[in-house]
Amino acid sequence: MRITSKNLDETVKLNRQIENEIQRHLKFTHRFLAKYDIQSPEKLALQILKDNYLIQIPIPDSDWGGAIRELPNGKKIPVINTFQPRLYQYFIYWHEIYHLTEEFSNSHEISTEFDLTERKADYFASQMLISKDLYNYFFALKQTEFIDKVAICMDTFKAPYKAILIQLYESAIEYENKRLQEIIKTNFDLSLSIESWEKLFKKLSLDENLVKPSFKVDFGLLKYEVNQVDTSDDRAYIETKEFINALEQKYLQVKGKLESGEL
Ligand SMILES: [Zn+2]
Repeated sequence: MRITSKNLDETVKLNRQIENEIQRHLKFTHRFLAKYDIQSPEKLALQILKDNYLIQIPIPDSDWGGAIRELPNGKKIPVINTFQPRLYQYFIYWHEIYHLTEEFSNSHEISTEFDLTERKADYFASQMLISKDLYNYFFALKQTEFIDKVAICMDTFKAPYKAILIQLYESAIEYENKRLQEIIKTNFDLSLSIESWEKLFKKLSLDENLVKPSFKVDFGLLKYEVNQVDTSDDRAYIETKEFINALEQKYLQVKGKLESGEL
């Protein structure tokens, strides 16, 4: 379900319903994350995904952020679309980590309802990236334009536009700030091109790479492991190795075409 100003209230209501479950899942996740000593949420997420055989490939489809794919041996591996702007990729990192971990923490609560599971994964992702302090942070900013302030929040919390607005909207309801609720609704469906975001980020001296795609091609641990094994007499390994190498070549070509503007 795409979230727009029309279903924003419904989305926030749904978030209230799943809040306790997500808070429990956050607690579980934090225990599980204790073994990593990585401070920045996006780098931490990337490391967790890499440990789970992450594949990063650019797929020229702006509606596709990523997925969990099951290998023939039953192993579940995350795939991230690096055609997406980096901020969106960070959000997808945590979204997919939710899917990777949901069955371990509350197996009795796995939802068969697709939209609800997706909302849970999204809500989890925003809780991992955006602190509850967003509201106060937003109001402490000296800038006067709404979009400028949101861009600064995007840069600080490393989260996409709509994720920031939803979280801010929830706080605005909590603080009974009707005016801010209205402003958020008016601006919610704003859709800027990558170039416009880049311009805005540059104007505000923010990191403009965050609003650009990375087009990264990386088969990480998967490639490392098939290359480690001596495969000379094992058909299955040779096939896997050839398959991964061919896939890598294919996506390196896609990357080249994207970078030269051919795609
Ligand atoms: Zn999902």
